Amino acid sequence: MWLPRDVPDGVLTGMSISVIGYGNQGRAQALNLRDRGLPVQVGNIDDEYAASARADGFRVLRIPEAVEAADIVVVLIPDEVQPHVFRSSISNALRPGQVVSFASGYNVTYGRVPIREDVDVILVAPRMIGRGVRELFLSNRGFPMLVGVEQDASGEARARAVSLAGVVGADREGGCVLESSFKEETLLDLFSEHAGLIQLLKTSCEVLIEAGCSPEAAILETYGSGELGEIAHAIADLGLVNQLRLHSTTSQFGQLVWGRRWIATETRDLMRRAVASIQDGTFARAWHAEEQAGLVQLHAAWRQQEMAPLFLAEARLYEALGRGGE
Ligand code: NDP
Repeated sequence: MWLPRDVPDGVLTGMSISVIGYGNQGRAQALNLRDRGLPVQVGNIDDEYAASARADGFRVLRIPEAVEAADIVVVLIPDEVQPHVFRSSISNALRPGQVVSFASGYNVTYGRVPIREDVDVILVAPRMIGRGVRELFLSNRGFPMLVGVEQDASGEARARAVSLAGVVGADREGGCVLESSFKEETLLDLFSEHAGLIQLLKTSCEVLIEAGCSPEAAILETYGSGELGEIAHAIADLGLVNQLRLHSTTSQFGQLVWGRRWIATETRDLMRRAVASIQDGTFARAWHAEEQAGLVQLHAAWRQQEMAPLFLAEARLYEALGRGGE
């Protein structure tokens, strides 16, 4: 466990929390916070998410009322709806001295949510899916959290962010609170999506098929066997390079010596361009335009993928293996 040492206990004592949204993160964080003894209520429209919160024993309020009722407003609705919900239900309900906490840096980084100047604006971002946030907490284990401060109206914003991350679950064995910022979290999050594994795995498969491998063998080797998941666990447990000790010597030579040449300067330069397109807002503008246009490119990409030979081969293979679904 690794926490900033200079933040005293009890920073959140006496503060009430409204969790806005009761989905993946909302439910997990609301339950963890309540189990840590903090007064928590939920803000949501009256639908099945609200019913689920009530079934878990929470008081559920409309979003503006939940914002008014709390000292700390934890915003856990999807990033793409936050600008609208802030304008319609959150911004006008905020009052001086409150804390607004986000689990993602995106909307603050790109100035997409209007927030008054006399509240603290903090980032408390789990590096863990909602299910893990709850399950690890229940088994008394922690997970990493990035924290940051965008606006420090109270002079206490950093201490509040660190404390909130701790009580949500980072202060347990296996957890940590790492000081970051909205901008850094946005870059990390988007870059890992843009320069990430999926395109690399897909291209690897396609190149192996071009080289004469069967699609089934290429898929199993590249990601379908489950070995990739085992390696990911080994990386998290032992380290990126250190886990190579679990691989054959041929694999170690291939990965440490021979394979280096294929991640060449061009790849690095393209990754730097991916970073630039996040930092200068090009990606955010393109994504916003795509949302405005009704996700035309995204839907077309899905249709194209579903007809692609690799996807069809994968569907046949996974059906034969009894896998599939979402
Ligand atoms: P979910 O999609 O699970 O959120 C669902 C909740 O949002 C429901 O309560 C839903 O209620 C509410 N919601 C959806 N649309 C609207 C709307 N238009 N107006 C008001 N409420 C709405 O979100 P996540 O938990 O996945 O993400 C929440 C935040 O956490 C995001 O900032 C995300 O980036 C961050 N995050 C998520 C992670 C994850 O594990 N998914 C990991 C780390 C960070 P209803 O439909 O009833 O309105």
